[in-house]
Amino acid sequence: MPERKIYIAQLKRAIRLSQQTRHMEFAVQDVDQFSFTPGQFLSLLADKEGREITRAYSIASAPYNNPQFDLCLNRVENGFFSNLLCDMPEGETIRFHGPHGLFTLRDPLKDSMFICTGTGVAPIRGFVQWLFDGPDRSQGREFWLVYGTRYEESIYYRDYFEKIAARHPNFHYIITLSRGGKSWRGLQGYVQDHVRAILERMPAEKRVDIHAYICGLNHMIKANRTMLMELGLERKSVIYERYD
Ligand SMILES: Cc1cc2nc3c(=O)[nH]c(=O)nc-3n(C[C@H](O)[C@H](O)[C@H](O)COP(=O)(O)OP(=O)(O)OC[C@H]3O[C@@H](n4cnc5c(N)ncnc54)[C@H](O)[C@@H]3O)c2cc1C
Repeated sequence: MPERKIYIAQLKRAIRLSQQTRHMEFAVQDVDQFSFTPGQFLSLLADKEGREITRAYSIASAPYNNPQFDLCLNRVENGFFSNLLCDMPEGETIRFHGPHGLFTLRDPLKDSMFICTGTGVAPIRGFVQWLFDGPDRSQGREFWLVYGTRYEESIYYRDYFEKIAARHPNFHYIITLSRGGKSWRGLQGYVQDHVRAILERMPAEKRVDIHAYICGLNHMIKANRTMLMELGLERKSVIYERYD
């Protein structure tokens, strides 16, 4: 097997999205270009007691003109890599290889459901940037982003998605909280319930001719896949990325 190219990326900017979550912007060093397809992930590398540790992180952006990428990550309790990244100061570097993965928009583009929870929004942000932020690549298709999280403080990139939805009538942004407080006026409950409701309002022939992209933890992915199969979607129309 040919040796993998190991890149070095420098952390340019980190933004706190919530108590547990960080948006990070990296510049890839010593290259003119860094190509990837929205939705792919990188394998980040670090040494721990003489052993090399690798963890996958979805790229949270579409390709920029410069060799750059964003990540969106959660601090996992007692987790090695997520804490290393969440504590990483601006200016520091990290090694990685990639891009990897097939969680990418399928061709031909169809009306699509983007279903995600927590930092599962990372690759979806890449899709949305690519489709709508710059030249409009949405081909007039309809896109629903159904985002679920526990609390209002963990609705990542809300302003960004609301801005895109305000400008593009074919992009629908739906947030649901499983533990919304008294002040929360929006939808409650799990993502699969709202995805089901949207699909049930569609004519049957349209419903089975969509793509569904799901990203996050396995129990959420399973619940959505089961529901989508019940509604008649084909297995190959349901594309997913598991974080655990
Ligand atoms: C393709 C892919 C893309 C991913 N993209 C992202 C991303 O964009 N953002 C992101 O935050 N994470 C992402 N992950 C998860 C990430 O790779 C790590 O698993 C996560 O950061 C935990 O690593 P750690 O070294 O901190 O924890 P570890 O030291 O590996 O684990 C510590 C403990 O946490 C548990 N645990 C492991 N992973 C998770 C998790 N994701 N959530 C809750 N508990 C966990 C383990 O069971 C263990 O008990 C992705 C995973 C995959 C496979």
